[in-house]
Amino acid sequence: MPRVVGIDLGTTNSLVAAVIDGRAQILHPEGASSMVPSVVSGRPDGTLVIGDRAREEVGQFPQDTIFSAKRFMGRDRADVADLLEKLPYETMGKAGGQIRLRVGKQWMTPPQISAEILRTLKRHAEDALDSLVEQAVITVPAYFNDGQRQATRDAGQLAGLEVLRILNEPTAACLAYGLQEKREGTFAVYDLGGGTFDISILRVEGGVFEVLATNGDTELGGDDLDRLIGEKFFEEACRNHPKPLPRTPEMMAMLRHVSEEAKIALTHEKETTVRLYGCEQLLLERTLTRVELEEWIRPLIARTLEPCRKALEDADLLAEEIDEVIMVGGSTRVPLVRKMVGEYFECEPHVELNPDEVVALGAAVQADILAGNRRDLLLLDVTPLSLGIETYGGGYSRMIPRNATVPCSVTDLYTTFVDNQSHVDVHVLQGEHEIAARNRSLARFKLGPIAPMPAGFARIEVIFTLDADGILKVSAKDQRTGTAQAFDVKPPSGMT
Ligand code: ADP
Ligand code: MG
Repeated sequence: MPRVVGIDLGTTNSLVAAVIDGRAQILHPEGASSMVPSVVSGRPDGTLVIGDRAREEVGQFPQDTIFSAKRFMGRDRADVADLLEKLPYETMGKAGGQIRLRVGKQWMTPPQISAEILRTLKRHAEDALDSLVEQAVITVPAYFNDGQRQATRDAGQLAGLEVLRILNEPTAACLAYGLQEKREGTFAVYDLGGGTFDISILRVEGGVFEVLATNGDTELGGDDLDRLIGEKFFEEACRNHPKPLPRTPEMMAMLRHVSEEAKIALTHEKETTVRLYGCEQLLLERTLTRVELEEWIRPLIARTLEPCRKALEDADLLAEEIDEVIMVGGSTRVPLVRKMVGEYFECEPHVELNPDEVVALGAAVQADILAGNRRDLLLLDVTPLSLGIETYGGGYSRMIPRNATVPCSVTDLYTTFVDNQSHVDVHVLQGEHEIAARNRSLARFKLGPIAPMPAGFARIEVIFTLDADGILKVSAKDQRTGTAQAFDVKPPSGMT
């Protein structure tokens, strides 16, 4: 019997889980680790290496090794220009189009790279379950827009998986903690992973989840801590060195490695020894204390509190009204993170479940619900960003406001601005700005021909339908002629 699995497709690490005998469990082949690093590396002979081995080889083939591919999912060149400057990747693709990254001898799109990771997880699950796995629930950060969700679906499909649901990561975390069994409560899920930060405010009532608000930062995570620590080490090494040190990809990879090791060591120890090798010599040797590290990273961690404040504001709640806080993501192991989050919400955050595994376990619970094994749970989710259309003069009219519960459908009437206008341009946008051009363009289509008549007389009905995955369908209809167009919003950077 094919089974449905839950997958946490992380920026840094990915995991697969399933409910077995009523209990969610991480799946991995005997002897293998439960986490698959989200790293894909191209060998000179054209083959691909995925996961642990690819991660080990970062230093060896830095330019052929892609990590953090999730940061590129569903985004075009302009979106990631800043990010590309910091990474050693060779890319291809024009502005507004899909980006391709060089992985050894191949050029691959982000969904293709993610598909390699998903294929590995699928294989792990099949090994562990000893059965075929063809369906999955895949999680995404709550802040992912339509294009990023669609790209994740595409990746699943490329890996030979039918994606039954795209689920928000913090919602999955609530399921893993079994919060549905609380009769009533308001929860915050604080997720600081390798590449992204998410905060979600959820309410549970009578076994039903409702996400009241989500917020976050798609460019903030453990990688950024590593980069910051690495910069400090590099500066120090330069000061100790007679000649300027080159910022080669090998040097950057070495810095990342040394910094992450020091950071992880300091979650348990009060001090650790750092040794940085490069240019075939020892460039830096020093002791780093937890106190010093905390001084460095405090501003980055403080940055996560601003999205927390915004989410609370959207949910119309005060920090002290949150009953429980759940910690998710490897970076929440950092003691300073736990301390600052606890102080902010004025409570001791939950850390009983392994923060790396929480999301995959929750995805498995959702998979079990969709497989029809659980009838006691219902899940309501919200859309992270407003959706609307461009109006006359470059304005923006919201159809579905941010944090609306999905699935949902909204109908609105629009009209023409010019006498005898024969077509209406429907420009679908996502975002919060009142100027159309400042939001993200999702799609554009022309409705017509419409009956000639004076400006303001036409009645154009526009319907926005958002499905349970947060994927949008738009239709427009001229009520007089009955001319209609329906459109599945396929974002421009989606798969062709
Ligand atoms: P993602 O959801 O982005 O895939 P994870 O939840 O797997 O990420 O978290 C990965 C991050 O957690 C990495 O930046 C890693 O350095 C960090 N991390 C893992 N263990 C620890 C630890 N003990 N202390 C500090 N950071 C840690
Ligand atoms: Mg994660």
